[in-house]
Amino acid sequence: MPEEHLARRLKVNGIVQGVGFRPFVYNLANQYNLSGEVANTSSGVTIHVEGNLKDLESFARDLTEKHPPLAHIVEIEQYDEVVNNRKGFRIQKSEGAAAMSTLISPDVSICEDCRRELFDRRDRRYGYPFINCTNCGPRYTIINDIPYDRPKTSMKHFKMCPQCQAEYDDPNNRRFHAQPNACDTCGPHVALYDNQCHPIQVHDPIVETANLIKQGYIVAIKGLGGFHLAVDAENDQAVAALRKRKHREEKPLALMSFDLDFIRKFTEVSESDESLLTSIQRPIVLLRKKEPNSISPQIAPRNRYFGVMLPYTPLHYLLLTHDFTALVMTSGNLSEEPIAIDNEDAFKRLGNIADYFLIHNRDIYLRSDDSIVRRSSGSNRFIRRSRGYVPVPVFLKKDIASILACGAELKNTICITKGKMAFLSQHIGDLENLATYEFFRLTIRHMKRILEVEPEIMAHDMHPDYLSTRWALKQQGIVKIPVQHHHAHIVSAMTENKIEGPAIGLSFDGTGYGTDGAIWGGEILIADEKKFSRAAHFAYTPMPGGTAAIKNPWRMAVSYLYDAFGEDLWNLNLPLLQTIDAKKLKVIIQMIVKRVNSPDTSSLGRLFDGVAAIVGLRNYVAFEGQAAMELEMTADVAVDAIYDYEWHAGDIIKISPRPIIREVVKDMHQGIDPSVISARFHRTLIKLFTELCQVIRKETTLNRVVLSGGVFQNSLLLTGLISALEKQSFEVFTHTLVPTNDGGICLGQAMVANATYRS
Ligand code: ZN
Ligand code: ZN
Ligand code: FE
Repeated sequence: MPEEHLARRLKVNGIVQGVGFRPFVYNLANQYNLSGEVANTSSGVTIHVEGNLKDLESFARDLTEKHPPLAHIVEIEQYDEVVNNRKGFRIQKSEGAAAMSTLISPDVSICEDCRRELFDRRDRRYGYPFINCTNCGPRYTIINDIPYDRPKTSMKHFKMCPQCQAEYDDPNNRRFHAQPNACDTCGPHVALYDNQCHPIQVHDPIVETANLIKQGYIVAIKGLGGFHLAVDAENDQAVAALRKRKHREEKPLALMSFDLDFIRKFTEVSESDESLLTSIQRPIVLLRKKEPNSISPQIAPRNRYFGVMLPYTPLHYLLLTHDFTALVMTSGNLSEEPIAIDNEDAFKRLGNIADYFLIHNRDIYLRSDDSIVRRSSGSNRFIRRSRGYVPVPVFLKKDIASILACGAELKNTICITKGKMAFLSQHIGDLENLATYEFFRLTIRHMKRILEVEPEIMAHDMHPDYLSTRWALKQQGIVKIPVQHHHAHIVSAMTENKIEGPAIGLSFDGTGYGTDGAIWGGEILIADEKKFSRAAHFAYTPMPGGTAAIKNPWRMAVSYLYDAFGEDLWNLNLPLLQTIDAKKLKVIIQMIVKRVNSPDTSSLGRLFDGVAAIVGLRNYVAFEGQAAMELEMTADVAVDAIYDYEWHAGDIIKISPRPIIREVVKDMHQGIDPSVISARFHRTLIKLFTELCQVIRKETTLNRVVLSGGVFQNSLLLTGLISALEKQSFEVFTHTLVPTNDGGICLGQAMVANATYRS
């Protein structure tokens, strides 16, 4: 008896267009002898298949297990269908509006197949720096509108040659419907220029670029999401020149090496680091330095880590074959400005930094900086989530209203929600100059367009002076909901962990506007999506000079010292105090005593700064969080003693920094090494926070603890606290999908606004 012939319809939702999904379905159907068809629809891909039960089931299983690397399946709905007995399997042509899935793939690294062709002398694309296929290459950065089709991308200027067109039209070809498909005959090209905009005629611009870098020149290189500035990482003089011209004094510079063997020459690479480095997203990964190493000491001064990535475009691969241990590949901008993407703009803005320019004629429509990830406590921790990851959404538990969340001030990203998905933008940057502010507005317009969303609600930070807040308040005809900064942090972490609260939320960062007008940043909250209350916080301490105290941690040190010792401060024998001019010190103390321009803060970030300055690490910072980071880096992890600490019960528990500061000073007086003091300081905080969580659990019966805020970029604190809390049987939730710093805050803003609006 013949097996029963059945028909099924499968609706696949997710990132399934422009990623080789239909050819994959076509091949899979043929493999199992199924007839039917596959088509793009407005919500994804729809498949009709006919055959026997066993083959239909194998087909459905392989669909989820073996899909192409860039596809991301959210859900598959299956229905029984009426048999139509047509022969064969075909790919239906998508017609205009029918193909309107809003899920666009991120830009990902060159795939293995393309890399093989790139270095294969017999291949027609041998050495072609724009080789790509459906499994790899640019996406998000080259589209201007949807549907994702060539005319809507910056590839529209290039007409495919007959050979490329044949590949594009052939469902059996790896380049079937690969929108950026191109070759040396028909596609984009590179060209070399000097910084006066004069073309340099050479046979091979990439080989010449490698030569120039070897000679110590700085070359601006147009990449996937923007320009990089490249120098030889082993050339001290070149690195120094780059720092000087870019006005980047001390912030670490990112490196790129040809392969893992090169990276292992100067860093320790664990197995999980390895899989992160080689992933298609190719982020910058923070890796522990090997000492000694041949990399210039100016790449990441006073840091135990290098930020390193593998090449992700064919152009990078061609450049790095010229035997560099590593190239500096830092973003092509003047410090704090958005990175340059446009050739003309690059000459204008980078002409005083770079000696030469390696440019190309494939336009970048939306810039996207390199992502930065660190492995910590067994998970990936985003420091910056951008190229390679954006615009993959964070999937929510439920449908929510359509919201635009404007993010914070520093490390700004924005979030737009649609149905069950929250789309975080690429890294926008610090909203403190006009160029970044313009980029913020452009990104909002761009994302609304490609997601086809006109948000009904807008969420913004409570800080009245954030540029993102000011922009939000200017918009007309939309509901605006202010969200407290630390509440947003906690809800962001709850959302990516798919919990709703209430939970105990440890929200620790540098700065956030509090509901009482003070500057918060050391907050233990009881929070759910809609509301929060403060369960505990660090006692308020004056910040002499406001933001000047952030740039000058010595001012915070003086403030904490004055709080702990009063006028006895003058008798302390601390190297820090000897480095400060006595008159200046007097002025600062006057400011503290008389509360002149000295706002109150409960910030844990500032306490880290203050302790870093007291132990003599640094008096001023070149970038936000630098002193705190160096305090973490200096810690001797073998030390396990702790300091006295103190908190005062009440409606809201107040944590006093006083005993900790006194003990740090005592250690300094006894000549104890900063590495030991730092370790003790970290351990004290871990013990203190665990104890407070236990106290709060007793009162509230809440057993879930959520950790969020920029301070948790500190791996020593994060790892130690997770393990201490878990030892006390707490359920601990942390960030692994979006940054714990302000780069992830827009997600929480959106969810709080949704909950507030609903009620
Ligand atoms: Zn490829
Ligand atoms: Zn071609
Ligand atoms: Fe924050």
